[in-house]
Amino acid sequence: MGKKGLDRQLVLATRNEGKISEFKGLVADFDIEIKSLEDFGPIPLVEEDGKTFEDNAYKKAAFTAKVLGLPALADDSGLMVKALGGMPGVHSARYAGEGATDEANNLKLLKAMEDVEGREATFMCIIAIAVPRGPALIYEGTCDGLITHDLTGSRGFGYDPVFYYPPLKKTFAELSSKEKNRVSHRGKAMSELRDEFDKVLIWLRQRLAEEPF
Ligand code: IMP
Repeated sequence: MGKKGLDRQLVLATRNEGKISEFKGLVADFDIEIKSLEDFGPIPLVEEDGKTFEDNAYKKAAFTAKVLGLPALADDSGLMVKALGGMPGVHSARYAGEGATDEANNLKLLKAMEDVEGREATFMCIIAIAVPRGPALIYEGTCDGLITHDLTGSRGFGYDPVFYYPPLKKTFAELSSKEKNRVSHRGKAMSELRDEFDKVLIWLRQRLAEEPF
């Protein structure tokens, strides 16, 4: 494959159909071919063992870019609770143990917060775009809220039923996906990326021109 083809492709380092279609919709107007891990054969899994969301997002994007020889995009996100010193943080998906269900994670969190008064929490999302040689762009989005005392609402996923968003007086699990995307950490990081996507494409073409093919 020639260099010309490579600078018009971006691989999403995920097999999550929801994330793939959301991202494709977001950049539909741009001159870029979006691929995902589903378009390639088996690729070794990256261990998400970083200390920060940025470490993990960068690790996933850079590893995928290096293995496939194509620019790659990855995200990492989670919930940081102030009274718990930032936990569950990068452990959000496995807070109640490896392979834990959302419900188990939420119940563990509510238990840890049982007698706690200060209930401030922040969702964070980091998006990294890396080229095979290593350089990367980073985008960030955050959303502040409060941890509830009970599971409330049935929409969304993860910690949505325990995350109360004061400006809308609802938990994330009580919002439609459209309402949530407008204010969520992921929605904000994505819209920052979309607003700058023409510059991202220029950056990608410049970085790829430097690659030692
Ligand atoms: P990942 O970024 O897909 O690895 O997600 C990490 C974990 O953070 C998820 O499994 C959820 O537990 C939590 N999380 C991230 N974003 C959200 C959200 O928008 N709502 C609820 N939980 C979330």
